[in-house]
Amino acid sequence: NRIKLRAYLTEVLQSFQPELEKKQIKVYNEIAEDFVIIGDDHKLRHVVNNLLQNAIKYNDAGGSVWVSSNKKQQIWQLIVRDNGWGIPQDQQERIFERFYRIENSRSRQTGGTGLGLAVVKEYIAAMKGKIKVASQVGVGSEFTVSLPLITDGKRDDVREKV
Ligand code: ATP
Ligand code: MG
Repeated sequence: NRIKLRAYLTEVLQSFQPELEKKQIKVYNEIAEDFVIIGDDHKLRHVVNNLLQNAIKYNDAGGSVWVSSNKKQQIWQLIVRDNGWGIPQDQQERIFERFYRIENSRSRQTGGTGLGLAVVKEYIAAMKGKIKVASQVGVGSEFTVSLPLITDGKRDDVREKV
């Protein structure tokens, strides 16, 4: 599918509105350039949905989430950052394993199967990309997805006001 990145994200964020309002979380769509990528809409949506869901879920009411992207040569990146609870250093690799959830009093209060990021990682691998995490407990987390940039050569960088 041909995906216009910024417009696409705006649309995905619409579907999160009820959740965001309920928890008073602000999401900043910082994708400035609406470049077009050719990608698997189903897989990409799953990735974006899960990263957003986690950024909202593992965050206090009133928290913030930032989504940005950039493109360098043959790679484009999607970055989802939050100022939520963070992930201890020694568990940052394990969160991508099936059924792995962080053990603490807070995560016990939140539901989840621990499958989200395992499937995210699988899908990204299927798209020949990578995912990495940077996080600090009490500060927040940043997930960076890097994917090969496939375009159809047509430029339509329609800029919208941020
Ligand atoms: P599911 O996604 O199936 O509902 P889940 O959210 O527990 O369940 P994952 O999405 O795989 O599973 O995440 C694994 C664990 O990593 C989570 O339980 C949570 O402890 C931690 N985690 C994931 N994203 C974040 C984040 N943005 N901030 C803090 N912790 C996170
Ligand atoms: Mg999850």
